[in-house]
Amino acid sequence: MINMKKLRFTCSRCGNCCTDKNTLVNLTYLDILRIKKGLDLEIDEVLDIIGFFVFDKTLTNEDKKRMIVTPIETERGLAFIGLLKNSFGNCYFYSPEKKKCLIYNLRPMFCRTFPFSFEVLDEKKGETDSLINIVYTEKGKQYCPGINDEAPLIDTEYWIQLGKRTLNDLKNNHNVIKKWNESVKQGKVVPTVKKFLLKILEFNDN
Ligand code: SF4
Ligand code: SF4
Repeated sequence: MINMKKLRFTCSRCGNCCTDKNTLVNLTYLDILRIKKGLDLEIDEVLDIIGFFVFDKTLTNEDKKRMIVTPIETERGLAFIGLLKNSFGNCYFYSPEKKKCLIYNLRPMFCRTFPFSFEVLDEKKGETDSLINIVYTEKGKQYCPGINDEAPLIDTEYWIQLGKRTLNDLKNNHNVIKKWNESVKQGKVVPTVKKFLLKILEFNDN
């Protein structure tokens, strides 16, 4: 296990995580609802910024278990839901002129937690701080200059609390996707992005 007390990071606001062409920002249903509400978007406007990204290989059960965000059944196969990019490969919400995220306070969980991800070390006592481990993501190690030996040690308490909220959101997201996937398999819903959006709005109202 990595010693969390030795993790170093400070964001230099380089924008790599918002502009890397091979990075797609995964969205939970909570991210979508937060952005929709925060920007006061109509359904069709949300459809302009989110999409299904279909996996380019058949996922094994092992692959699925390793995934942080549960894959979703779509009309073209298993996928994840992500923020669309512009024609330059930048995140839809990144402003190169201002060098910043235009929806910073509403940004997805993936962006809030980068360059870290979290592991529950003991499912039975998962709510306890000490049982969460924090690790650098592979993408973070690849291109985040904020991870370096000169950077300050992270505020472990802050990241553990964020980790707990993140893991809880992921659990809720898993339950919603599970319901959706069952509906698709039972032929109760045509698995388009729009139908998914309507479904999560329905879950939100219940
Ligand atoms: S890549 Fe790292 S340093 Fe650059 S903006 Fe993203 S989090 Fe900050
Ligand atoms: S939502 Fe904001 S922080 Fe996240 S990738 Fe896009 S521009 Fe960057």
